[in-house]
Amino acid sequence: MTKKQLIPEQINKKLEAAPIPDILNWVNEHFPTEKIGFSTGFGSSGGVVLDHLMQVNKNIPVFYIDTGVLFRETYALRDRIEKKYGVRFIRYRADLSWAEQEEKFGPRLWESNPDLCCHIRKVLPLREALSHYEVWITAIRRDQSPTRINTRVIEWEPRFKVIKVNPLAAWTGDMVWRYIRERNIPYNKLYDLGYGSIGCFNCTSALRAGESEREGRWRGLGKTECGLHFPTTDKWAHSLETQEVDR
Ligand code: SF4
Repeated sequence: MTKKQLIPEQINKKLEAAPIPDILNWVNEHFPTEKIGFSTGFGSSGGVVLDHLMQVNKNIPVFYIDTGVLFRETYALRDRIEKKYGVRFIRYRADLSWAEQEEKFGPRLWESNPDLCCHIRKVLPLREALSHYEVWITAIRRDQSPTRINTRVIEWEPRFKVIKVNPLAAWTGDMVWRYIRERNIPYNKLYDLGYGSIGCFNCTSALRAGESEREGRWRGLGKTECGLHFPTTDKWAHSLETQEVDR
């Protein structure tokens, strides 16, 4: 039986409206712990999933992609979470240093070609991370952006050949913050300064009045996703991907 065949439609229907512990327990019961990986970008939703995960199985690997240009508040949050839960984060990074990237592709790639920059610094490290797992747990939600509206609780991710589990798919931002306050979960202090979604400091800004959660990311660049959850369309990035896979 292939991994993809392990997701019969009735499982998805059953888990679609299930509470997060039921979803995570299903994963925990059907896959070896070392084959389950939870990725976090240290966002508010990630804090909710991690809090639940620690109640289900503390040994499930938790990893993050370190682009090297995360906010200092994000690294501080990582350290606070490690202290609170005793979790040891696994860090994945790009093969290229920022200096090597600049030498190869020119300065400020996040402005000249942000899809390629995200591809090098995020997508390729994620691919390396997921090569170790059969199941990828994420914290994405349908209400975060139009690109995420069709997110299902259990999906097959063909790019990385893993089962993708999105236990917060049906949650709203309000539900996330209510849970954070009720459980006193550590969160990034930048949220208190008006940030709605927090990534690399090169490409993240605080929200303006009336903007939705992710509108502070890649402001003015016409980009809404980094490519971790939804592929970018940039042909250059795809050709680089082919090179990386073939080498
Ligand atoms: S978010 Fe910006 S700096 Fe970070 S990898 Fe993507 S383009 Fe580069």
